[in-house]
Amino acid sequence: MNAAHQLSHPKLSRNQSEILSCLREANEPMSAYAILDRVRTAGISHPPTVYRALNELMQKGMVHRLQSRSAFIACGHGACDGKFAFAICRQCGKVVEIALSDDDQSLLLGLVPDEIAPEQVTLEIAGLCEACRAA
Ligand SMILES: [Zn+2]
Ligand SMILES: [Zn+2]
Repeated sequence: MNAAHQLSHPKLSRNQSEILSCLREANEPMSAYAILDRVRTAGISHPPTVYRALNELMQKGMVHRLQSRSAFIACGHGACDGKFAFAICRQCGKVVEIALSDDDQSLLLGLVPDEIAPEQVTLEIAGLCEACRAA
């Protein structure tokens, strides 16, 4: 994907565009501080600004949070409705986003016992990618 095109995304603020481009270019999970480091040259220098833009991008489904790594990653499909899981290579850190169907989501929520009212599914599966298996 061409980063220059992302910068002109009509529905995003300038900060959101900068941060989304940064994550899409990186094509791997980044911590908020690594993002801050990268977008400094674009004039974004305050952590709250980065967190606010990240939260807004997550609400739009364009950025997701990797719980297990405290990191953020651009949606593997451009944007999605929040039903997703991640497969993560434990060796090189490669991340692949898996789209969950409504049925997948219901199945997972169905596992929750009555004492907890489910709100959100976070699913991250660790393994070895093809390249790391070959090595
Ligand atoms: Zn997604
Ligand atoms: Zn790997």
